[in-house]
Amino acid sequence: MQQAFAISTPNPGPSAPAAQPDQAALIARIKRMLVEQNAVLIAHYYTAPELQELADETGGHVSDSLDMARFGHEHAAKTLIVAGVRFMGETAKILNPEKRVLMIDSAATCSLDEDCPVDAFTAFCDAHPDRTVVVYANTSAAVKARADWVVTSSIAVKVAAHLHAQGKKIIWAPDKHLGHYVQQVTGADMLLWDGSCIVHNQFKAQLLAEMKRAHPQAGVLVHPESPAGVIDLADVVGSTTALIKAAKDLPNTTFIVATDNGIFHKMQEAAPGKTFLEAPTAGVGATCKSCAHCPWMAMNDLEKLAQVLESGANEIHIDEAIRQKAIISIQRMLDFAQSSQQTVLGKGNA
Ligand code: SF4
Repeated sequence: MQQAFAISTPNPGPSAPAAQPDQAALIARIKRMLVEQNAVLIAHYYTAPELQELADETGGHVSDSLDMARFGHEHAAKTLIVAGVRFMGETAKILNPEKRVLMIDSAATCSLDEDCPVDAFTAFCDAHPDRTVVVYANTSAAVKARADWVVTSSIAVKVAAHLHAQGKKIIWAPDKHLGHYVQQVTGADMLLWDGSCIVHNQFKAQLLAEMKRAHPQAGVLVHPESPAGVIDLADVVGSTTALIKAAKDLPNTTFIVATDNGIFHKMQEAAPGKTFLEAPTAGVGATCKSCAHCPWMAMNDLEKLAQVLESGANEIHIDEAIRQKAIISIQRMLDFAQSSQQTVLGKGNA
């Protein structure tokens, strides 16, 4: 019981700490370069508060990965600076081939993407030619190119139900937890790839149950990349955007949140005065590498952003043949979303 208290931490508050003189000068330099280079900063919810604030202050955007790409597509800037991980930069490039897309740190990756190498995945798909291939947005451009559909967490259930109603069997990759959740909800025949998010995989159901008992009034908000036992304890299961909305709309004043704690910045902004607690990961003495915070998202910072703007390094390039295939599976989702009047862009994945 004590354990749950020991590993829950109060939210970091709505704002980044006030910039010190050096940091203020750095931010001013970045703002100047963004204007000079006709560039816009697009940040994921899981990145540091100072990057999220800078994106908001400079006319950029803070959101989930597909909405980041959508924003980049609609914005007039010639250069998109992506504060996030590599697959987000690739998705932005797939949808915006005419633009220069730069990553703040090109080594920032994602365990779901890493868990699904294209050659092994292609062999797996080839061994099951009767199945429709559905992949989560957290995949490489090459894996998206092999897929029939790309989905976000907000539309995954609808797409799987749609395919199931047509009598189609599915290959799902890479997140086994999200796949299991979709399978449970839809009853679809799904063959699951064995990948997971190293952040969400660490949330622990038993400790969460103890924490719920200690905070009986708290709402429990869970991202569906979490293990099934954690999802079972949720009041709301949803994408990052859906969880922020729930934090605002639900009457609870305290929430236990099972997703990357970078999201607390926007949650606190959306619901000032409410309290957000990290869901338990591996407990006291944990060996988790990523206790409620993604190590790759944490690689993004202001200094590297300034360096990238100065050097033009870390540009995303995608083979055109791969890009043209990948965009088909993304477009299929977008067309489905439009026909089913489901908003995908803006309510998407992690
Ligand atoms: S939080 Fe998980 S899903 Fe998101 S980028 Fe990090 S490893 Fe990937």
